[in-house]
Amino acid sequence: MLNFTVGPVQSSQSVRAIGAEQIPYFRTKEFSEIMFENEKLIKKFAYASDEDNVVFITGSGTASMEAAIINTLNEKDKALVVNGGSFGERFVKLCEIHGINFDQIKLDAGKTLDKDILYRYDNKGYTAFIVNVHETSTGVLYDLNMISEFCKKNNLFLIVDAISSFLADPIKFKEQNIDVLITGSQKALACPPGVSVLLLNENAINRIESIPSKCMYLDLKDALNNARRGQTPFTPAVSVLLQINRRLKDIDANGGVEKEIERIADLAADFRKRIKAFPFEIFSNSLSNAVTPLCTKTASAKTIFETLKNEYGIWICPNGGELAEKVFRIGHLGELSEKDNDTLIEAFKDLNKRGLI
Ligand SMILES: *Cc1c(COP(=O)(O)O)cnc(C)c1O
Repeated sequence: MLNFTVGPVQSSQSVRAIGAEQIPYFRTKEFSEIMFENEKLIKKFAYASDEDNVVFITGSGTASMEAAIINTLNEKDKALVVNGGSFGERFVKLCEIHGINFDQIKLDAGKTLDKDILYRYDNKGYTAFIVNVHETSTGVLYDLNMISEFCKKNNLFLIVDAISSFLADPIKFKEQNIDVLITGSQKALACPPGVSVLLLNENAINRIESIPSKCMYLDLKDALNNARRGQTPFTPAVSVLLQINRRLKDIDANGGVEKEIERIADLAADFRKRIKAFPFEIFSNSLSNAVTPLCTKTASAKTIFETLKNEYGIWICPNGGELAEKVFRIGHLGELSEKDNDTLIEAFKDLNKRGLI
């Protein structure tokens, strides 16, 4: 199998080897040390400061999205949610379920947020801003500097879902005044799914401490108390945390976050250059390094996905809903090389020869 989906993605040999080991008991000094190291490297790669805190949640990315909403916002807030696709929609749903007042900036699929639209919401009494910096469902990357400036001007608490963007696109936690940053184990971290990560600044911690707990499992007060001693309140996905440790140390040893972002950007650029020869259009007007969304001119995107999977052993990412027949996505995250791009391009050539695209 050759996996070009956007997650789970392919893991390195060193990460996979850990998955074959017995699971160690975790209420130990040794495991705490590993968790401290995980925290230190996440902070380093996000350009956070020493006082910021990291919490590891056992649960996919959505668990941390939900934890952010219920622990840092309350009924006094009025949030502004960017909704450009199914992940933006998820934050809308979370606000609805948990009774958080909000308005949404609804964007057309494939279109980024521009300054004109954003500043219609200037000085309107909002208290929080919620965004998936890379709306993975359509492959749109929003301008975090523009958003950060807007939030600073309006004094908004900024929650950023960077689940598919962290380690693939530049993010500066402190400099961009991000209060909560969320990521997950199965995207650019290239580990198995099951763990998500929250990076929290002092503002976020103050909010967490002043808001009464609404959920036991996702209580960030409890998680923060435990994290201070390198532990989690409940049994975590121990092996995934060990794999995250390996992966973070590998990135560090190979030149750090800048190098990793560059590696993914180069792979994406190589693919984007070569896909021009085929009858597809890039769907998004603002791309992340993580994903290339492609719109077909005549062929069915769903058939391309099925044929590549069943006849070539290549997995790309289909779209759902209204875009299912028109759009598919190629991920550039995880253990992939230019040689893998060659294989994919050869398969597209073959589909073309067969009259399928
Ligand atoms: C993958 C992803 C998520 C999390 O999805 P899970 O299936 O819960 O891991 C959330 N937001 C974005 C932008 C994502 O790409």
